[in-house]
Amino acid sequence: MNNPWGELTGVKPVKLTRELFKGNPYNGRQPHEKDEVFRILTEERGLSREKAGLIIEIYEYQQQVLKGEDYTSCGLYIGIPFCPTRCLYCSFTSNQKPYGEIERYLEALIEEISYTGRRLKEIGMGIETIYIGGGTPTTLDDAQLERLLDAVIHNLDLCKLREFTLEAGRPDTITREKLRIAHSHGVDRISINPQSMKKRTLELIGRSHTPEDILKAFELADASGIPVVNCDLIAGLPEEDAGDFEKTLETVLGLGPLNITVHTLALKRASRLIEQDSSYHDTHSDVVSEMIELSHEMLRGAAYRPYYLYRLKRMAGALENTGWCKGDTAGIYNIRIMDEQQSIIALGAGGMSKVFFPEENRLERVPNVSNYEVYIERLQEMLERKEQGIFKMMPEIYKQTEALRRR
Ligand code: SF4
Repeated sequence: MNNPWGELTGVKPVKLTRELFKGNPYNGRQPHEKDEVFRILTEERGLSREKAGLIIEIYEYQQQVLKGEDYTSCGLYIGIPFCPTRCLYCSFTSNQKPYGEIERYLEALIEEISYTGRRLKEIGMGIETIYIGGGTPTTLDDAQLERLLDAVIHNLDLCKLREFTLEAGRPDTITREKLRIAHSHGVDRISINPQSMKKRTLELIGRSHTPEDILKAFELADASGIPVVNCDLIAGLPEEDAGDFEKTLETVLGLGPLNITVHTLALKRASRLIEQDSSYHDTHSDVVSEMIELSHEMLRGAAYRPYYLYRLKRMAGALENTGWCKGDTAGIYNIRIMDEQQSIIALGAGGMSKVFFPEENRLERVPNVSNYEVYIERLQEMLERKEQGIFKMMPEIYKQTEALRRR
């Protein structure tokens, strides 16, 4: 099979498209018109016409959604590194821990939220989006979720907030009460991630829920008043063929989430799947291509449009992950994180903050440690890293923003 992405190995093809449209003085790229961008992508980079057209379409739509750059605001990520069980393909920081450990973590995390909120107010940096991810944040029980969200709304200045996402990935962790708490604290986007609607697949990948749990979670979400539900699916899961994937898509479309993200299974180093079959992504490339084509056909047919896209190393068929949305519901945090033109401040174990210096078009990374126990022990050091790497950099970011405005 020819690689539809040609020579492009980078994980952010839409970011490259932006640079082709707008130019980048730091690597000598000149701005181009649309026809020329298409020609460069297809003739010089070897992309198929479909992939080149797709990323140009996504880039153009993102420009409408973002309404320009906002360098003095940030996206805020809050990580909950716990899940009920570990998925077969997982390579994230995901721990299966008892109540007491989650409590200890939450205490430290709330201290980081409070410190960050105070310093962001002092330096005048706004928050455009909040994304609570993981792990599975809804592993927290009702009282813990309420404490976390209380800490968010009482410590952070939310006057510039455009989007507040809570990942509720595992359907078996979602309850009516947790969704009520989320809604009452301003969460306006949740993500329910079935991955597949086939029972056998869910067992094979080590999820502890059934397709019926997924249907129930969607019913609860519908009744909760939270306006946007995203649904993550994976193409290329073990033992699935195109027919299975089609059935999953049909069922999900029937449930009507406003966002659907179609991932291509990636074989990551830390996953159990790669230990079982290290050539998995090669042997599954044809069926995954068929699934991805099918997803385009069915999602466009149901009035969804692609709004963000990224790739990972070792994806089945060397393909991509694509976020789709209906109406005006594109996930802004997802676009910004791939676009890399705004600072992201990441709290919690494994959080990787990225500070953006607009005039230099440069990102500086400020990591938190990924082990949650070490994070709790070394919390003061994590705060100090943020102080030095992020908050003290704000005058420089303002200076660079001003310099760009004057040009
Ligand atoms: S839900 Fe996500 S983070 Fe949790 S085990 Fe599965 S893949 Fe890993």
